[in-house]
Amino acid sequence: MGNESCLFCRIVAGTIPAEFVHQDERCLVIRDINPQAPMHMLVIPREHLESLDDAAQKDEPLLGHLLRVGARVANDEGHGESGYRTVINTGAGAGQSVFHLHVHVLAGRALNWPPG
Ligand code: 5GP
Ligand code: ZN
Repeated sequence: MGNESCLFCRIVAGTIPAEFVHQDERCLVIRDINPQAPMHMLVIPREHLESLDDAAQKDEPLLGHLLRVGARVANDEGHGESGYRTVINTGAGAGQSVFHLHVHVLAGRALNWPPG
């Protein structure tokens, strides 16, 4: 079903290899290829949505699921107490480079606020 020109659809389809940290019927979690913190995961829905801006009311349960999976993975990796950050970049001006919705989960170092 995926979009062949979309990198994350190809990872979901298994045509580009990735190490899956978590998989379920709605999403998968992989390690970012260019980590910005000691732990840097990407929570990727199986369904292709271009960005958060593309999400509709019917996608609200999916969005909640992505955030809860991110929290679970951060805890499983031992960052529950020290803290972790979940980020969704929406649009090129905000740093989005892959136009398939995904949640970044970062941890393992001090994370500054405001972000750059
Ligand atoms: P964005 O910039 O769209 O918010 O995030 C895209 C992320 O995908 C970036 O952090 C980038 O390092 C990561 N990325 C790009 N290509 C690949 C890939 O082939 N494999 C993995 N694991 N991560 C990727
Ligand atoms: Zn896609």
